[in-house]
Formats: sequence, C-alpha cells, structure tokens
Amino acid sequence: MEDKKKSEYMPNEIILLKLGETALKGQNKRSFENRLMHSIRTRLGSENFKVYAMQSTIYVEPKKESDLDEAMEKLKKLFGVVYLMKAAVCPKDENEIAKTAIAYLGDELKKAESFAVKCKRADKSFHLNSPELSSFVGGEILKSGVCRKVSLTEPDFSVELEIRDRAAFVHSAPIKGAGGLPVGTAGAAISLLSGGIDSPVSSYMMAKRGLKIIPLHFFSFPYTSEMAKEKVIRLAEIVAEYSDSKELLIVPFTKIQEAIKLKTPDAFGTILTRRFMMRIAERVAFMYKAKGIVTGENLGQVASQTLEAMAAIQEVIKMPVLQPLCGMDKAEIVATAREIGSFETSILPYEDCCTVFTPKKPKTRPRLGEVRDAEAPLLDQMEELINEAIKNIERVRLK
Ligand code: ATP
Ligand code: MG
Repeated sequence: MEDKKKSEYMPNEIILLKLGETALKGQNKRSFENRLMHSIRTRLGSENFKVYAMQSTIYVEPKKESDLDEAMEKLKKLFGVVYLMKAAVCPKDENEIAKTAIAYLGDELKKAESFAVKCKRADKSFHLNSPELSSFVGGEILKSGVCRKVSLTEPDFSVELEIRDRAAFVHSAPIKGAGGLPVGTAGAAISLLSGGIDSPVSSYMMAKRGLKIIPLHFFSFPYTSEMAKEKVIRLAEIVAEYSDSKELLIVPFTKIQEAIKLKTPDAFGTILTRRFMMRIAERVAFMYKAKGIVTGENLGQVASQTLEAMAAIQEVIKMPVLQPLCGMDKAEIVATAREIGSFETSILPYEDCCTVFTPKKPKTRPRLGEVRDAEAPLLDQMEELINEAIKNIERVRLK
C-alpha cells in the first residue's frame, strides 16, 4: 500500500512479474520479494527502472525510454518468477481499456483466427465485474474489425485484462518464467566449475533452488592453457545470468597435481585430486560463509563416479556435497546445457586439468583403506600445499 504514493507518472508500458512458490511462503514473502527486487535492480540498473511489489506482483516500470524486450530476456532468467509479461497501462475505464487493447494488441489480433478476453479484478470496487468487462471489451474488439471471431474454448490469441489498485493493465498470454526460488534465499554454496558440460548445469540447478552460487575453478597452468581459463570465465558468466554470481574464484592447482602424480600410485590419481579439491572447497566455503559444495558429478559416467569413489572423495570433509545431476542421463544434462546457453562454450576443445592428469587405469571401486594408504606420502606436505593454493586464489570479476 505504501508503494502507492511512489509515482504519479504511469508509463504506457510496463513489465509485470508473477511470483510462484515465493508467494506461498507466508512470512518469508516480504524477504523473498525484497531479494527478487534487489536482483532485478542489479540486472536492469536502478537508474533505468523503478521496481516495486504490490498484491503478489512485481512491477518493473521504465523511468525513461528503455528496451523492454531486452529487459524481458534478462528477467526470463530470474528464479522465483513463474510468469512474466509486458503490459500496457491505462486508466480504469472500460472505454479506455478497450481502446488500449485494440491499439496495443491490434497487430497480433489481426493475425489471429479467433480471440478471447480474460479479466482479473484485484480491485473489487471496479463498477463492472469480470464477465461484464470481458464481454464489453470483446464487443469493442469485434466492432473494430481487428479480429472477427470469439472463441472462449480454443482461442488463437488471448487478451488479458487486470484491474488493479492504481490502474488497468492489458496484455497477451504471459510467458513462462524461470520458476524455482529467488537466489540467496537458501544460503550460499561453493560450486566446483570445470570446463565441461556438467558443472554449469549443476550450478544452474542449485541456483534454481535458491542457493547463491560462488563458482570455483581449479586451474593447472601450464598444463591447461589461458584459453581454457577464458572458457571457464565465460561459463561462469553464463551461469551468473541466472545466479547473479559476482566473481569466479580460480585456485592454482599445478603444484598439488604434480605432487600427486609424483608421489602416489597412478590408479588413485583422480580420487586423490578430488580429495584435495574438496578440502580446499570446504575451507573456501568457510571463508565465504557458504554452507555447501556443489559438483557436477553423475553416477556411472566416468571412473570416479561410483558410490565407492564418492565415499572416498567425500570422507575428507563434513560439509554437505550437492550433486544434482546424479539422477540425470547425459542426454538430459545436454538438453539443459543447451537451454541455459552453456553447451556451445562447454564443448570448445581446451583440456581441463583433470584430463591431463587422468590415470591410465583408474581404480573404480576403491576401498577407503587403500585410498588413505595411497595418499600417505603426501600427508606431511598437505597443509602447506592447501594453504598456498588458497593464499593465491585469483578472483575474477564476472561481467
Ligand atoms: P564436467 O562436465 O562438469 O567437467 P565431468 O562429467 O567431466 O563433469 P569430472 O571431470 O569427473 O566430471 O568432474 C566431476 C566434477 O568435479 C565436475 O562436474 C566439477 O564439479 C568438479 N571438477 C572437476 N574438475 C574441476 C576443475 N578443474 N575445477 C573445478 N571443479 C572441477
Ligand atoms: Mg570434466
């Protein structure tokens, strides 16, 4: 209600966002809305748009001439939104509403075989009820000739009206939003981002459940090139379009990988590498007040992805490890990667550090005892190696 006073000026066109699970969350509703609004302002620039919430709807109102289609593209990636739409704003008067509908949606109505008018009244004091307003506006559209047939059951095109506190809104059928929960409402996690197909998808999936994602990459220069690093930065930027991540953490990993290669049996290379990754990720998580670790691990895809290997990898830390891809087929992962726009970048050919050091005959079902034995020659160096890697983390700001 207090928002009502915010503006006397109403632009002609505005974006409306409808909230999903968010709106159901009782007391949390306000804080969820606030997070969403913060995220919208960061994405679109608060100098360009005014953003406020009323009646379970978020209004995104241009302050000046702005590209609403571009804004829509960014908002389609906003978790916590179920539907979104561009709408024309007009006074709460049936003649004005009909005129606006014909002017604003006329081009699309002309292409349609048939149409229907749907109406929602948040303002119950409006003098016509929903069926009366719908049939009035439908009649005016027919008279205007932009579309000549009404079909209430299977309309080609739908004209939707909303009568709200401040104004009436006219729009066509809403577009599906990204769903999920607003980023940050579930806390933060470190997400291990390699250059592959899987980890951008796992990062995206956990951001969708409300986790703030802090991407972290292990980089083994010169075994992996600057090009490989650029590729991971690009992948982090693609994920950030959904997760609002501000920076990518790059951990120098060469010394650790060389020590593993030199001092431990080849067959355990991958598992021991992963154990170091986990230890480092957990410590970085503490530094960033994050409470979980996300990886793109899948069951049965490669040698390190058996329950035995996972047990050996995860025994070195206490923090929960989230592996959202575990139940997915590769084809499903690829489909999601395409959908979020990471696939083309992921398949660029630069090696990631693990392919360079991949064992010839990896141990697939290791026993914990043999893993610990294999790691023993590194114990005296372990603290130093880990501390040095963490001290030299590079922070790359994401665009
Ligand atoms: P991806 O496609 O994500 O590389 P993958 O199927 O190739 O996954 P692995 O290479 O076995 O699987 O890696 C499993 C997970 O370990 C990755 O999804 C990622 O979360 C993490 N990981 C692997 N290598 C790195 C790295 N260099 N930096 C950060 N995380 C990594
Ligand atoms: Mg990989």
